[in-house]
Amino acid sequence: MPAITNHMPTAELQRLDAAHHMHPFTHGNGLSAKGARVITRADGVWLNDSEGARILDAMAGLWCVNIGYGRHELAEAAERQMRELPYYNTFFQTTHVPAIALAARLAELAPGDLNHVFYAGSGSEANDTNIRIVRQYWAEKGKPSKRKIISRKNAYHGSTMGGASLGGMAGMHAQGGLPIPDIHYIDQPNWWAEGGEMTPEAFGLERARQLEAMINELGEENVAAFIAEPVQGAGGVIVAPDSYWPEVQRICDKYEILFIADEVICGFGRTGRWFGSETLGLRPDIMTIAKGLSSGYQPIGGSLLSDEVAAVISGHEFNHGYTYSGHPVACAVALENLRILDEEKIVERVAEDTGPYLREKWEALADHPLVGEAKIVGMMASLALTPDKSARAAFASSAGTVGFVCRDRCFANNLIMRHVGDRMIISPPLVISRDEIDILIERAWKSLDQCLQDLHEKGLF
Ligand code: PMP
Repeated sequence: MPAITNHMPTAELQRLDAAHHMHPFTHGNGLSAKGARVITRADGVWLNDSEGARILDAMAGLWCVNIGYGRHELAEAAERQMRELPYYNTFFQTTHVPAIALAARLAELAPGDLNHVFYAGSGSEANDTNIRIVRQYWAEKGKPSKRKIISRKNAYHGSTMGGASLGGMAGMHAQGGLPIPDIHYIDQPNWWAEGGEMTPEAFGLERARQLEAMINELGEENVAAFIAEPVQGAGGVIVAPDSYWPEVQRICDKYEILFIADEVICGFGRTGRWFGSETLGLRPDIMTIAKGLSSGYQPIGGSLLSDEVAAVISGHEFNHGYTYSGHPVACAVALENLRILDEEKIVERVAEDTGPYLREKWEALADHPLVGEAKIVGMMASLALTPDKSARAAFASSAGTVGFVCRDRCFANNLIMRHVGDRMIISPPLVISRDEIDILIERAWKSLDQCLQDLHEKGLF
């Protein structure tokens, strides 16, 4: 077989890809018929594909490339670490400098007394760890009946058996015998789609109080934890009404349950603070981290634990761990990423400069005839597409169709914007400049216009 490189014709790369590579969250045969887009290089917020297109990546990969592509410092950190100590584990009473240094840095950055990290290779793995930690925590405290975990419909917490069970995605539960037992779901705070005649404030309170009702229904003595994303990401960048989180926090404080904030997307500057919990005023006992921790340059995640949770778990042997828990190269790269985020004041830039600039432009998209609400927190944002703004109506055609049409228009315009059903979502690299934001918005308008035109032609609008 000839060497497979960037120089091979696209069609040949696509053929080999279709023959041997199975893609996540993909209809395999559908993709094979069409051929996958081949990405060859990237720098800043820009991707290049094998056909020479230059694409604005308004998703930062999968919400993860916070410092942007092409930072040589991270490559150098990886190379240094690979030469010095490419791998060692932290089992069996051993440690190494990158794991120590990153843990200490995370303790400095994390809010409250979240001073302890249990490393994983991804967000999913970290959430699997969390299931075991919260159950073990209560068992150690002499309350082994506290095993149930409350989550939310349309939440995303990963793809492992544990992560997908914690998540509230019906399509995922339908495959492979999920969810695992003892996970329960309350409704999501999605006012646009589910708020009916209620005001956002009243709806936010109603949805928060479902947590209290669920705790009482299951029995406080049986509930270990509540898990939630500060802003639901994969569910469609759902921003809860202002009344929601204070009420959830009140309930978490009132009852003897642990609160897990899944910061896999919201962490490391995405919301304009280091963690979404800070932006939204949450005081979690455990935080799930991944993605922006290394800006996606290395696979790494973890669970940040409060002093109290860590103390209880440390009382006995914890029979859990991954070969790549605290991988030295991943830790070294993450540390370098955190240095850049900090020294270049990237989080502050999101809060004070580019974030407000994007907000102004993004919210103006609500003037487009297709757009109902335009929501944004820091550098994650969504648009609800609708045939009738005042009625907050959904399109009658099968869910997802209009979003999919719009997504395809964006791709054709060299803008990576994703869709979740009929919501369009972005989560650009945090280093995006004002000029690049202008390009993003211009391409978004154009794609919306073309989508509207498509709908007119099909008689759907
Ligand atoms: N939690 C949240 C909130 C996520 O958005 C994701 C990934 N999109 C995960 C967990 C799972 O992380 P990973 O894909 O790294 O396993």
